[in-house]
Amino acid sequence: MKWHELSLTELSTALRDKVISSVELNRYFLDRIAQYQHLNAFLDVQEETTLSQAKKADEMISKGTASPLTGIPIAHKDVFVTQHWKSTAASKMLENYISPFDARVVERLGVGGAGMVCLGKTNMDEFAMGSSNENSAFGPAHNPWHTQYVSGGSSGGSAVAVAAGLTPIATGTDTGGSIRQPAGFCGITGIKPTYGSVSRYGMIAYASSLDQAGPMGKSAKDCGLILNMIAGHDSRDSTSLSREPLDYLSFIGKNWSDDASLTLKGLKIGIPAEFFAEGLQEEVRASIESALKHFEGLGAICIPVTLPKTKLSIPVYYVLAPAEASSNLSRYDGVRYGYRAKDYKDLAQMYERSRSEGFGAEVKRRILIGSYVLSQGYYDAYYLQAQKIRRIIAEDFQKAFASCDVLMGPVAPNVAWKIGEKSTDPVEMYLEDIYTLSANLAGLPAMSIPCGMSQSGLPIGLQLIGNYFAEPRMIQIADHFQNTTHWHQLHPQGFEKPVGGQA
Ligand code: GLN
Repeated sequence: MKWHELSLTELSTALRDKVISSVELNRYFLDRIAQYQHLNAFLDVQEETTLSQAKKADEMISKGTASPLTGIPIAHKDVFVTQHWKSTAASKMLENYISPFDARVVERLGVGGAGMVCLGKTNMDEFAMGSSNENSAFGPAHNPWHTQYVSGGSSGGSAVAVAAGLTPIATGTDTGGSIRQPAGFCGITGIKPTYGSVSRYGMIAYASSLDQAGPMGKSAKDCGLILNMIAGHDSRDSTSLSREPLDYLSFIGKNWSDDASLTLKGLKIGIPAEFFAEGLQEEVRASIESALKHFEGLGAICIPVTLPKTKLSIPVYYVLAPAEASSNLSRYDGVRYGYRAKDYKDLAQMYERSRSEGFGAEVKRRILIGSYVLSQGYYDAYYLQAQKIRRIIAEDFQKAFASCDVLMGPVAPNVAWKIGEKSTDPVEMYLEDIYTLSANLAGLPAMSIPCGMSQSGLPIGLQLIGNYFAEPRMIQIADHFQNTTHWHQLHPQGFEKPVGGQA
């Protein structure tokens, strides 16, 4: 049985019907993780802990006290702190760090919550800064469709783990595209919910006003099942929204409107002109256009809209995110936890050496940019200005939503690139985020679903951006697409060993 090709609902049924036990199911995935170690998707695996959690899940299933997700394996991005696995954020700074508590997301999904079983922690860009997973202090994750190519980032390990069938589902975080872009590059589904929907408690902070956790899985429905567990108010996160939690699956299987003869008849899709401008790879454009045609076939209509400040999202984001990061990362000083330099003559030198030895190049670059834009004399010119444009970007979205229900476009301007190809030019890497950053700046929900393959055999992702709290509708739209297309069901084969890559 290819357990790694089954949906969460199918796995749940198999566990309840005792076709397989949770211990056996987790053993199966642990074996695959070991077999495909060269993909470098995982940073920490503790087989015994996983199997003992699975044993507890089996007991709950036998007693009839289980939830539908109990016993199903899950992998967490290494940005979520966990008690039994290291939590490193892929940084040398936290190389051996073990947290005394679980992040809210881990807690809600784990033994004390839904009863899912943790397979381990997945690779990522250091402190979630990057678009290719190449900034990990522990080497890049490899795209299973072509192992010489990047996975996307920063949640690259989670995307690889799901795409390669090393886990049925994973968690990720998205500050400027880190769920959607790796999901797009690896051919899976990922959702970044409305800002404030999922608690940031225990999520190692990058840029607090932008960071949001979400699921990465094989389908929109699988992701909805996870969102139903992780969303909701948490008093330990001051930006957590205190509103009635949504039912993310409430529109699954329903037509867009009651009198619809076609499944999505009446759906208005806004097509932002700026998402199809210069710089978009032809193959990506063609795939997105054919996905839009497919939606028209389901009864939707496409409406041209504009998001005039799209281009500015890059400078705005790369001022605001580093500014917040420079403040969040000041806690790594070699005193309280994390890496401490071996040689130093006084306190100042201890700080200096611990931070210069512990952080990688990209993290240092962002701390420098962030400290600069916040410094006296430059604050008004950069930080304040960026905040003002952030507001305009959010308003532009509201104008667009006046004439449509959802926006669609590419996730990224191109498919995955070769490992190493862009790592010498940070700005070139930043430009990759052109289509994803604005949803974070506005706090809007956005998702990525597979919609095509390039000639070179690399996946292409379609992005959906909704208005605040439109996730159930977006999941419905994506589900109709996935019920009538096969892109999300393609599986990479072989995962040949990379030449000169990770062992
Ligand atoms: N690529 C963006 C960055 O480097 C986004 C990362 C993210 O969403 N965590 O900051």
